[in-house]
Amino acid sequence: MSVLIIAEQQQSCLDEATLSAVSAGLQLGEVDILVAGHNVAEIAIQAQQIDGVRKVLLADATVYAHALAETLAPLVVQLADSYSHIVAAATSFGKNLLPRVAALLDCAPVSDVTSIVDTQTFIHPIYAGNVLQTVRSQQSKQLLTIRTTAFALAELTGGQAVIEHIAPVAVPQLSRFIDLQLTESEHPELTTAKIVISGGRGLGSAENFAALLNPLADTLNAAIGASRAAVDADYAPNDYQVGQTGKIVAPDLYIAIGISGAIQHLAGMKDSKVIVAINKDADAPIFKVADYGLVADLHTAVPELIQQIKAIAC
Ligand code: FAD
Repeated sequence: MSVLIIAEQQQSCLDEATLSAVSAGLQLGEVDILVAGHNVAEIAIQAQQIDGVRKVLLADATVYAHALAETLAPLVVQLADSYSHIVAAATSFGKNLLPRVAALLDCAPVSDVTSIVDTQTFIHPIYAGNVLQTVRSQQSKQLLTIRTTAFALAELTGGQAVIEHIAPVAVPQLSRFIDLQLTESEHPELTTAKIVISGGRGLGSAENFAALLNPLADTLNAAIGASRAAVDADYAPNDYQVGQTGKIVAPDLYIAIGISGAIQHLAGMKDSKVIVAINKDADAPIFKVADYGLVADLHTAVPELIQQIKAIAC
């Protein structure tokens, strides 16, 4: 079996999601990585360092700047003949690109894979994570997106991969890059942070959200997340959203503050190792998944928690 991993990049660095995709790919066969972009030679060198990677395919051209899925899909299709599996992380990038490749190849992709049984059998959650479906695919080529939190990061200890240059594929310019707007945050990135503090509608306002959660996150060096209700109410930006239609996280510690625990929210965080919930309603469903629950008003509980953590840290 030969596996093509589609590399993802963040601000001129190889994204950690790629390391999870490689780890999944190594369970399937020999792994090559496609690094496509503009001025991405440095990223190809980073990809070369990943243990177990056989070859880095480097497509470095202006046409691949900004990683537009519409432009990248024909490139992946051109390479597809040599591979039994094409794997991307189930990130916004992977979820945009892989279905386009699948459509062009007339294959049915399997999305958000959390476990690989064998080279044709995959497990993935459906119905907001309430059911785990086992899919056995009879197709000659398998296209997968993998849930990054379900696969360990491949090691970057100096692999021996060769770098092969790939010529760009001519495509009609149906889409063009306009602008990139990133939320600036001093906190760690949500999907890779070891600790996540998430706030919900119970915070009551954007001011409370920032005033209570920022100092707690600073104290614990945590990322900040939010429920959809908090995002819809403009307490937090859209890319903070955790859940079925937001980001999937599985940190060592997840603290849910003023979040009721709707199934769509649980779908994005219930695999966290330790879950703490603070809610004034003792019957809130979040307490069913919480390892530690505090029935309290968050306006008093959160400042007290910050004070106690600071006291321990001193
Ligand atoms: P609420 O349900 O209103 O809960 C607020 C909680 O705060 C309550 O439990 C209350 O007791 C508590 N509270 C209030 N005041 C205080 C206080 N002073 N102290 C302590 N506790 C207090 N939701 C997501 O989060 N992520 C998703 O990705 C997502 N995707 C969705 C997709 C679909 C198709 C649909 C239909 C819904 C989706 N939702 C998602 C929405 C989801 O169903 C819930 O509406 C949402 O999660 C509720 O957010 P919440 O818990 O912040 O708000």
